[in-house]
Amino acid sequence: MPGSQREVLNAEEEGVEFCWLSAPDGFTGKTQVSGVKASRMRLGPPDASGRQAPEPEPDSSFTLKADLAIKALGFDPEPLPALFDAPELAVSRWGTVRIDPKTQMTSLPGVFAAGDIVRGASLVVWAIRDGRDAAQQMHKHLAAHAVAAQAAA
Ligand SMILES: Cc1cc2nc3c(=O)[nH]c(=O)nc-3n(C[C@H](O)[C@H](O)[C@H](O)COP(=O)(O)OP(=O)(O)OC[C@H]3O[C@@H](n4cnc5c(N)ncnc54)[C@H](O)[C@@H]3O)c2cc1C
Repeated sequence: MPGSQREVLNAEEEGVEFCWLSAPDGFTGKTQVSGVKASRMRLGPPDASGRQAPEPEPDSSFTLKADLAIKALGFDPEPLPALFDAPELAVSRWGTVRIDPKTQMTSLPGVFAAGDIVRGASLVVWAIRDGRDAAQQMHKHLAAHAVAAQAAA
C-alpha cells in the first residue's frame, strides 16, 4: 500500500480496519448500498523486477456489510470534457485541464482552473496558491469586460 507507515498506524488508531489482499468487485443493495462485494487476492509469481503482483484467489468472494461506501481508488481526474458535455475543454493526455499559465483560463473563455485538476496529484500549498492566482485573474478578466461594456454603452 503506497501510504506512510505512520499514516497507516494513525488510521488503525482511529478504528480503520484494513482488509489486506482484498479487491472490491461491486456493491449490493437496490436503492441504498447494503454491502461491498470483494474477493481475496494472493501474491503471484515475481516479475523481472522481483515484484509480486496480486491476483484473485478463486472462489474467494465475500461481502462486507455497509451503509455508506466511499470510492477512493486513485488520483486520476474524471473525464471532464465528457462529464460536462464540453468537448472543447482542452485536457492533457493524463486528463488534467490545460490552462494558459499567464491567465489560468482554460480553453473555454471565462472558465478558469487551478489546483490538482491542472497539476495532477499535488500539494495543498500549491492548490491554495493557484486558487489565489486564479481569483486575481478572474477579477482582471471581469474588470476588463466591465470596462469594455461601459465603453460600448
Ligand atoms: C489521501 C490524500 C492525502 C493527501 N495528503 C496530503 C498532505 O499530507 N499534504 C498535502 O499538502 N497534500 C496532500 N494531499 C493532496 C491535497 O489534498 C490536494 O493537493 C489538494 O486537496 C488539491 O486541492 P484542490 O482544491 O485542487 O482539489 P480538491 O481538494 O480535490 O477540491 C476539489 C473540490 O471540487 C469538488 N468537485 C468535484 N467535482 C465537482 C463538480 N462537478 N461540481 C462541484 N464541485 C465539484 C470536490 O468535491 C472537491 O471539494 C493528499 C491527497 C490525498 C487524496
